[in-house]
Amino acid sequence: MLPISEKTIRTSFVNASRKETGDLTLPGDLDTLDWDALDYLGWRDPKLARRAYAVVPTLEGELVGILFRQAEASPRARAQCSWCQDVKLPNDVVFYSAKRSGPAGRNGNTVGTLVCQDFQCSRNVRRTPPLAYEGFDVEAARRQRIEDLQLRAASFAAEV
Ligand SMILES: [Zn+2]
Repeated sequence: MLPISEKTIRTSFVNASRKETGDLTLPGDLDTLDWDALDYLGWRDPKLARRAYAVVPTLEGELVGILFRQAEASPRARAQCSWCQDVKLPNDVVFYSAKRSGPAGRNGNTVGTLVCQDFQCSRNVRRTPPLAYEGFDVEAARRQRIEDLQLRAASFAAEV
C-alpha cells in the first residue's frame, strides 16, 4: 500500500466515534514502515486492552479505517486467519469484532472475523511458498496470495 499520514489514518475510520479516533494510539513507526510490504495497516492499541485497528485500501483506492474489539474467548486451537488463510501460521489468530458503520452500528450491529493477532497477514503471504511440484511457479503463487489477501481485507472493509 502507499504510505499514509497520521491525519489520514485518524480521518479514515468508518465505525469509530470522534472520541475513539482521538484517543487511539498510532503505531510508533509510521515513518520507517516498509509500506510496500503491507497490504493493509493493522495494529493493536498499546494502551487499551482488546482494542485494535486496521486501515484497509479498497479496490477503488479509498482507505477504510476499522476499529476492532478482540473477543474475550479465544478461538479453538489452530484457527485459520480469514484474511491471509495462511496454513503455516507462525502466529496466533484471534476473533475480532467491528461495529458496523452508520445507524446499523449505533444499533449494536457488528461483524466479526478471525484475523492474525498482530495483523501479520502481509508478512505471511509474502513468505515463499513451498515448491508444490516440479515446475511450480513459486513467484506467481506468492503474487496470487498477496492479491487474495488484498481482496479479502477489502471485502471485509466493505461489509463494515
Ligand atoms: Zn492473517
